Amino acid sequence: MNFSYIDIHSHLNFKDFDEDRESVIQQMKDEGIATISVGTDLASSIEVIRLSEIHDNLFACVGVHPTDVLESSFDYEEFLELAKHPKVVAIGECGFDYFRDQSDELKNKQKEIFEAHIKLAIEVGKPLMIHARASKGTQDAYHDTLDILKYYQKEHPELLANFHFFAGDIGVLERILDIGCTVSFDGPITFARDYDEVIQKCSYMSIMAETDSPFAAPNPYRGKRNSPLYVKEIYNKIAEIRGENEEEVRLQINQNAQNFFNL
Ligand SMILES: [Zn+2]
Repeated sequence: MNFSYIDIHSHLNFKDFDEDRESVIQQMKDEGIATISVGTDLASSIEVIRLSEIHDNLFACVGVHPTDVLESSFDYEEFLELAKHPKVVAIGECGFDYFRDQSDELKNKQKEIFEAHIKLAIEVGKPLMIHARASKGTQDAYHDTLDILKYYQKEHPELLANFHFFAGDIGVLERILDIGCTVSFDGPITFARDYDEVIQKCSYMSIMAETDSPFAAPNPYRGKRNSPLYVKEIYNKIAEIRGENEEEVRLQINQNAQNFFNL
């Protein structure tokens, strides 16, 4: 399908959109914007599939968020049924989040649930949506995620993953590109300069754009509720940082998203 912009990670199911979800989606349709809405547990995974069934420009991603693994259960068979749905284009978001809690209990549970997502992705032949958030001042969650992906790729070279809300350093980026995986960027690239070098060094074929709405609105909407309507700001900032033509970057990012998620 032909879209003007593809926001590869949002949470349109969140209550932040309860008041005006339909009008946001309608405006997205008017502007040719598509999004992948990401479930964070079983109930929200079912909900993003339901939304994707009603709207051509919505796709779904199903899984249990790494910070929810202690409270939410992960029933493999239940998620397998969801993952097979034709509008489900990725599995996740999954991986490691050590930002607030570095306890062994959480780390071990995150690893167990991440590996279940990997098996699911291999079984249905769909890519992973990675959530990796390192503890302050380190790249730990990225390296742990990459070690596991690399291990599974030995037997399953077709296994692919996108690192959503990428905030890692150049060393991490190189490891990601090395195993054929991709990264996507968010609102903070429009107002923080920490991402410039990574965006400049990233291969043109491996870069995508997202909003992670309702969180992390880009300039000039900073502080407001974010929505997929603002994904253009991310596209244009990527073009600006890379010193490339906006239209060419838009077409390339769309191509990347369509290839990666088979949209
Ligand atoms: Zn998310």
